[in-house]
Amino acid sequence: MPWPASADLLAPLAPWFDGVRRELPWRAQDLDAPHADPYAVLVSELMLQQTQVATVVPYFLLWMHRFPTPKALAAADEDSVHKAWEGLGYYRRARFLKAAATVVAAQGWPKNLAGLADLPGLGPYTAAAVGALAFQWPTPALDGNAFRVLARLLLIEDDPRRQAAELREWLVPALRAHGPSRLTQALMELGATACQATPACGRCPLADRCEAHLQARTREIPPVAKRARQHTAELWLLALEAEGRFLLHPPAASGLLAGLWRWPTLDATALPAATGPASALRAWPGWTQVYTHRREAVSPLHLRRDRSFPAPEGLLWVPRAELAALPLGKRDQRLRDLLATPGERPLTAPKPAALIAALTAPGR
Ligand code: SF4
Repeated sequence: MPWPASADLLAPLAPWFDGVRRELPWRAQDLDAPHADPYAVLVSELMLQQTQVATVVPYFLLWMHRFPTPKALAAADEDSVHKAWEGLGYYRRARFLKAAATVVAAQGWPKNLAGLADLPGLGPYTAAAVGALAFQWPTPALDGNAFRVLARLLLIEDDPRRQAAELREWLVPALRAHGPSRLTQALMELGATACQATPACGRCPLADRCEAHLQARTREIPPVAKRARQHTAELWLLALEAEGRFLLHPPAASGLLAGLWRWPTLDATALPAATGPASALRAWPGWTQVYTHRREAVSPLHLRRDRSFPAPEGLLWVPRAELAALPLGKRDQRLRDLLATPGERPLTAPKPAALIAALTAPGR
């Protein structure tokens, strides 16, 4: 890899970052010393996976108020942990955070990168970021932003992730020279604010040495990965109420949705809408729920019945008064919020009897 020395090439980044850095509640004042609270770094890094800084800030503050130490989080019950995470999405992160805090509370912080990477939920990137930001270890953390900056700077023409090992090794002297925490954050910040998909090279401290910029090739580097077309599932999302109780799926013990209650869903292509539905139904405008590997066209419905019936397999009746306290994912939380609004009698929707028959069908 005939790349220029990283400590020289990236030298302008450190003073640039000192000038532009934003105050964030998890960010250390002194970027030359180990962080006073490694747990705050761990919480912020897990929250920031897949979530924007502005969204994370209030969640972080509330979280640190409720669970201020690894010990406090380790002792908290699962429901309160999920409740505090509610709205951030990707709930596995909350469970990993609690599991990691449990290890740290019992054994103390790991002493090296391998130990951090062994904590639940910390992949190579998060372990390296916590190593650099919390402990000032020269552990290169390469996220999508950092890969994009380095690909352009070094004119890497194919997917820079293929050279992750070489890039990490190349970056170590720069981390040592300019401070692991400062340089790691500077690289992330540059990728997030200037070197975006369409870069603002005019405000970049590396413009005089960036090969992609100097050769006017920033549009093609790094190459855009082709994404598989995602199938969109069409769903009725159903709040079925009877005698002051709602039907919900209780949380699964494991998997992506562990710890979360869910409204029942019905396949809208198998249960098409009919015209002239009963007045027992309320509806609201639908929306598209986007997940990493899946999209759902969601149509929310509220069906009220006078008489209750035994809960179908896999569902439980939950009193209305307990609904607000249940941890729900983003999609299901949205229907819970809608229930407090008027809604409308839908022009087209399945007949109530068809909804209930589909919900209670054996083996659904
Ligand atoms: S000069 Fe432009 S393309 Fe190069 S690192 Fe800076 S913002 Fe990115």
